[in-house]
Amino acid sequence: MCAEDESKGQVSRRGILVSAAVTAGGVLASTPVSGQTPATGSAGQAARPRPPVPAAEKALKDQKLVQTIPIPKQSGRGVLLERGQRVKVISPRGKQVGDFFAFARHSPDEFIAPPYTMTWNNNIYLKAGMPMITNYGNQLVVLEEDTTGPNDLIWPCCSGRQKPGKPAELPNCRDNMQAALRAINFPVPVHPELVHPHNLFQNSPVNVETGELEFYEPKSGPGDYVVIRALEPVVVVVTACSVPTGVVNGGEPKELLMEVYG
Ligand SMILES: [Zn+2]
Repeated sequence: MCAEDESKGQVSRRGILVSAAVTAGGVLASTPVSGQTPATGSAGQAARPRPPVPAAEKALKDQKLVQTIPIPKQSGRGVLLERGQRVKVISPRGKQVGDFFAFARHSPDEFIAPPYTMTWNNNIYLKAGMPMITNYGNQLVVLEEDTTGPNDLIWPCCSGRQKPGKPAELPNCRDNMQAALRAINFPVPVHPELVHPHNLFQNSPVNVETGELEFYEPKSGPGDYVVIRALEPVVVVVTACSVPTGVVNGGEPKELLMEVYG
């Protein structure tokens, strides 16, 4: 995520959540997401059919745990995945946002981008079965399992009040994403300020009546997790969101954990 100004974004001024209404509008929410009956509104136009998510060659249960990567609070970690490998992102204590980034290993300028994921899936939330789409319109990874939800696609990366040419004032996911890439010798984006995360465990719905963005604590409890499969060779980065106050991280930044299966 996230939002340095999150503390002023009070929770649910009207308390109307969008998820049910969106679903009623025909959102594609489960596997396979693509190539199925498109969403239509009463006066809307059908969404374009999308290519299906490539099937997995192996199930998670047939893969081995090959790496465990703790992500201390207010930090990030990166890992290289081959096609078909999976990463499980776990929230050991719950109520902690994980900013998820993925870059194409053969083309570091290609990375998953939330507006593409939203419009591909015709949904403002990231749900199980949905692929994450790059700035070049390709499926790169897919969210296969999600024990809690919701996962946000609207909020930009927190930047610690960074201004052009100046360092950030606070710990933040933008800096931590870049540090994680350097640590595994992967090129840092030329314009990191244009790279935004898919916000795992972030509970910030849209009020369907007013369009207002609302904020709640993550719904995740201790041990909740997501499983994401690589559709191509990728570099994955997860940052444990740094925002220290407000509800976004349940009042205090906490650690996350990555497990790699393959
Ligand atoms: Zn953040």
